[in-house]
Amino acid sequence: MAKSLDLEELNARFEKAEPEEIVSWAVSEFRPRIAVTSSFQTESVVLLHMVSTIDPSLPILFLETGWHFQETLDFKRELVKRLKLTNVIDLKTDPRVREASIQKSHGKPYEKDPDHCCYINKVEPLQKALKNYEAWISGIRRSQSKTREHISIVEEYENGLFKFNPLANFTSGDIWWYIKKHSLPKHPLFEKGYLSIGCWPCTRPAQPGDDERSGRWAGLAKTECGIHTLMKPKGAEEKPRVAEIQEEGRDI
Ligand code: SF4
Repeated sequence: MAKSLDLEELNARFEKAEPEEIVSWAVSEFRPRIAVTSSFQTESVVLLHMVSTIDPSLPILFLETGWHFQETLDFKRELVKRLKLTNVIDLKTDPRVREASIQKSHGKPYEKDPDHCCYINKVEPLQKALKNYEAWISGIRRSQSKTREHISIVEEYENGLFKFNPLANFTSGDIWWYIKKHSLPKHPLFEKGYLSIGCWPCTRPAQPGDDERSGRWAGLAKTECGIHTLMKPKGAEEKPRVAEIQEEGRDI
């Protein structure tokens, strides 16, 4: 039977709690049906470090789109070794679906329709993987962008899934304080101005004065891949674009 949580009480309590306390609570409540998502960029080291001190065998889900910077893959290898993470799982889309989208877009699905590209390479593989779990821990923060400023620390999704955002209240300054305190490494592209890093075709260095995610899909209205927006908390309205993207998916 799906768990029932008092979200109002929990969110009120967790607003005053340290992120480590929230992660510990979630892990003890949901293990072994709990997983963490990570994109293995500079900021990811904070949540990964917390997880490594609580339970390094927790499943860490990484969306392996096939378009990551080599530096990200190297950084991932370094962190796994250093933090002794024993259960990192690469999530991939069905190779036939990926290949069909590449063919149809003459090799550049991220240019033809980045929403659809993210949908088949990120949203769908994650949705499928999360069916094996009852809880998901993510490292997103309110101060990262406008689209994230209203996230709750605990959210309930459909099908009995709970999402924990333990770093919701962390600022960029808190992230750097934590990295320094624990002598954690930085993603090699950070020094080149890449404040937020995703797939190479869709990532540029951030512009001075813009938000931390301004280098993602630069020049487009798109600001999110969809895993934190198209997958919606219970009761939230469906975004009209979802049906359209799914329709395009059936076409390939
Ligand atoms: S970030 Fe770009 S390359 Fe990666 S899945 Fe999305 S559109 Fe495709």
